Amino acid sequence: MNADVGMQRAESESLAVGAGSPRHYCLEVQDLAAGYGNQPAIDGITFAVRPGQMVGVIGPNGAGKTTLFKAILGLIPVLRGRILLHDADAHAQRAMMGYLPQLDEIHRTFPVSVSDVVMMGRYPRIGWSRRPGAGDASAVRQALERVDLLDHARTQIGKLSGGQLQRVLLARVLAQDPHLLLLDEPVSGVDTTTQHAIFGVLEELRDNGKTVVVATHDLNCVVERFDQVLCLSKRLVAYGSPADVFREEILEATYGSHLMVVKVGDRRVVVADEHHHRRK
Ligand code: ATP
Repeated sequence: MNADVGMQRAESESLAVGAGSPRHYCLEVQDLAAGYGNQPAIDGITFAVRPGQMVGVIGPNGAGKTTLFKAILGLIPVLRGRILLHDADAHAQRAMMGYLPQLDEIHRTFPVSVSDVVMMGRYPRIGWSRRPGAGDASAVRQALERVDLLDHARTQIGKLSGGQLQRVLLARVLAQDPHLLLLDEPVSGVDTTTQHAIFGVLEELRDNGKTVVVATHDLNCVVERFDQVLCLSKRLVAYGSPADVFREEILEATYGSHLMVVKVGDRRVVVADEHHHRRK
């Protein structure tokens, strides 16, 4: 079974990078095990991402995508392994990592305005004991402008649609201006126009040298837009370019029974079963 082909490619690529120029990754995850209590939910995860790359993290419900993000951010215990950001301990550099959680982790009834939420992105920079300054207010305005929500700056978040709230959360990450962005299903449940708008912003960030890691169930989008794909099924199944990773044996090893292969004319189309997708 060839499921680790993408991984082997990633490893040989990392050796090639080391020759000549100094090795430079934004994010390196080495033999990571992490979970809840002492029980690992993910194990044996090793991959590295360069600045200016967009990585899609795919896998069925419960594969550990959110767990991986929380471990990188230091929100849950790391049971084994190392996580490095620019060659140093990632958890000591939390302000350089921006996180867009799944929508259902957000308390929408909390009485705060759109601009309050986006300003929260500035706090890792300004410190919780200091007051935001003019530069922070300007960063918030720019971030809201970028997601086309400046008109809603004073709106309470409880009054927003799901797609608008996703854009507010993206604006919060933009206002933080991190090196690494971890986005957990940023386009789940939003209309196609909003999806394009969100991906437009992410691609612009990538082109400006940011590292963008996105958990998603939208495999078409990963094929079309992402540089690297990480296939997760509690363990790392494969890591490589979409062309290397989108092969039947790798997708089967990732999705197991959640995967359907459909014949369309003489083409075989692989479909991950998104109907199992629940809102947590
Ligand atoms: P989805 O696609 O549904 O968002 P996921 O790939 O993000 O799924 P995780 O949410 O990371 O998967 O879950 C990985 C495993 O960890 C699952 O078995 C889940 O039940 C378990 N898990 C998640 N959160 C907790 C928690 N707070 N306490 C205990 N176990 C948890």
